[in-house]
Amino acid sequence: MIDDNEIDERLVNSDVIDNIESNDISLRPRRISEFIGQPQVQKNLLTFITAAETRKEAMDHVLLFGPPGLGKTTLAQIISIELGVGFRATSGPIINKAGDLAALLTNLKPKDVLFIDEIHRLSPNIEEILYPAMEDLQLDLIIGEGPSARTIKIDLPPFTLVGATTRSGLLTTPLRDRFGIQIRMEFYNPNDLVKILLKQAEKLEVGLHESGAYEIARRSRGTPRVAGRLLRRVRDILSVSNTNIIDHKFAENALSQLDVDSSGLDAIDRKYLKIIIEKYHGGPVGLDTLSATLSEQKDMIEEVIEPYLLQRGLIQRSSRGRFVSASGWRHLGLSPPKNAVEQIDLIDTSKN
Ligand code: ADP
Repeated sequence: MIDDNEIDERLVNSDVIDNIESNDISLRPRRISEFIGQPQVQKNLLTFITAAETRKEAMDHVLLFGPPGLGKTTLAQIISIELGVGFRATSGPIINKAGDLAALLTNLKPKDVLFIDEIHRLSPNIEEILYPAMEDLQLDLIIGEGPSARTIKIDLPPFTLVGATTRSGLLTTPLRDRFGIQIRMEFYNPNDLVKILLKQAEKLEVGLHESGAYEIARRSRGTPRVAGRLLRRVRDILSVSNTNIIDHKFAENALSQLDVDSSGLDAIDRKYLKIIIEKYHGGPVGLDTLSATLSEQKDMIEEVIEPYLLQRGLIQRSSRGRFVSASGWRHLGLSPPKNAVEQIDLIDTSKN
């Protein structure tokens, strides 16, 4: 059993918004030119922003999808800064009543950006209010109940809705179809993470050698949020050591001390692989069973643990359940059975 503290303190968990880390706000890139990596995303966004500015119109609604910590919130803020408009942020699960959404929408100024994180978690009745708001800039509200109930229509200013979700498949089709711009965020390659880390180190005034940045980068699960968090924890270790620079050796030792292995897997990831191998002979095993055995929520397994393991080719998903691939067995130092599937490693590990 993994206890809750272990999960809360999970260093490589990219699912926790880290603005509790006081420096986070200043560490976020504010302009598209400061945003590192995802070149295709940058190029497309810049085109849409410039087009909206030229037409002097609100930008079309944008859906950003990809695993947690890849920069969706950051990009939403960048869109508003680049457009020179206001930014309001909320999240799907906290909009409970129609009135909550109505208040947000009616308070927008023309062309403002409204960011809804975890948009797939909006309740169906709220989603229905969003449809005419997105399409016709109309808010249809029902006032009162029973026979005396009546509908009132409120005109809204033109606005840009930026929705973020971990997987586009979680969205209902009518909602997804109302986003004119749909952007998929990819895991970052180690070289881009190195650039992000060096920039963050400069802002945090911590001595980080490129070799140390590379070591942290390659253990960061392709995710800037994880990279930032690992850097801060390695910095803690640095501050109680008798050196003042994080080089390759220092980063390697510090990360081992933090129990993050050479591929960025932590104790929970290894436990996930181990359970499938030891209890289910490598799989297949269903999500419900895994969730019960790991004492971990299904969402957390699907959105935080599995995307990176899939990307690294350590597991495979099929309609019959999850399997550990041959590289997954080898990762734990075990020899794979003959029927284990080989997988190609999709992350650039050429410098490993
Ligand atoms: P998401 O909304 O996808 O969960 P965030 O936008 O909150 O992710 O980003 C998580 C952290 O990673 C933030 O601290 C942000 O500063 C940093 N970050 C994300 N993408 C980049 C990037 N391309 N360049 C620099 N820092 C980034």
